Amino acid sequence: LLTEADFIGPDRVQLTGRRFDHLATILGSEVGDQVPVGVENGDIGTGTLIQRDAEAAELAITLDQSPPEPLPLTLVLAMPRPKMFRRVLQTVAALGVKEIWLINAYKVEKSFWQTPWLGPDALRENLTLGLEQARDTRMPQVHIRQRFKPFVEDELPALLAQRPGLVAHPGTDQPCPSHLSSPATLCIGPEGGFIPYEVDKLVAAGCQSVHLGRRILRVETAVPVLIGRLYDGCGY
Ligand code: SAM
Repeated sequence: LLTEADFIGPDRVQLTGRRFDHLATILGSEVGDQVPVGVENGDIGTGTLIQRDAEAAELAITLDQSPPEPLPLTLVLAMPRPKMFRRVLQTVAALGVKEIWLINAYKVEKSFWQTPWLGPDALRENLTLGLEQARDTRMPQVHIRQRFKPFVEDELPALLAQRPGLVAHPGTDQPCPSHLSSPATLCIGPEGGFIPYEVDKLVAAGCQSVHLGRRILRVETAVPVLIGRLYDGCGY
């Protein structure tokens, strides 16, 4: 994923650091090879490697396609533990989620909020990894809310007015819908699950409580399974 700072001419970019390593080591690119490129919040296309030394590569780029359509989903996620958080961020960015609300819940440990991965640079780095994986360029927005009640009472209803809400909760009556295709807000609980008070508040705000069957999935598994189920075959 390219930013303005990478440009050394109107259609020339220079890559160093992580992206150079990826190009040189993982892709094993040589002069003349082509690689996919995209500009942050802009178009995607092709870069041709025109020069390379031990630390930097120069590419001539052509940007001729728009990025994939964003998923019409707002994700409300109880803060996962730091180790899982990075992977979940990368996964949701790769799946096309553009709006993420990280919320508190009773079973979110206070220490989770101390993670360095919540800093703006770290958030961006992990979202970028997900976007690059999926050849997308549109940077997701992350909103952080450390107080559950004001979020659910004051902010969630406005979100639900635009995108109706589901709360994934094991043991509930309704199975999660599939091939939904329409916009939705999806609430996912912490590793210990939402407590009954929280499910009641989410339902009172307008969410429908849904389950995924009897298997209890880890957050990092539940998120892509739920998104895949809701939007499977919908072209995102
Ligand atoms: N013991 C917790 C419970 O019963 O709620 C398990 C929580 S699970 C590890 C973490 C989150 O993933 C849940 O809060 C829910 O949002 C989602 N999840 C995992 N498995 C699910 C299932 N079978 N049905 C619905 N949601 C599920």
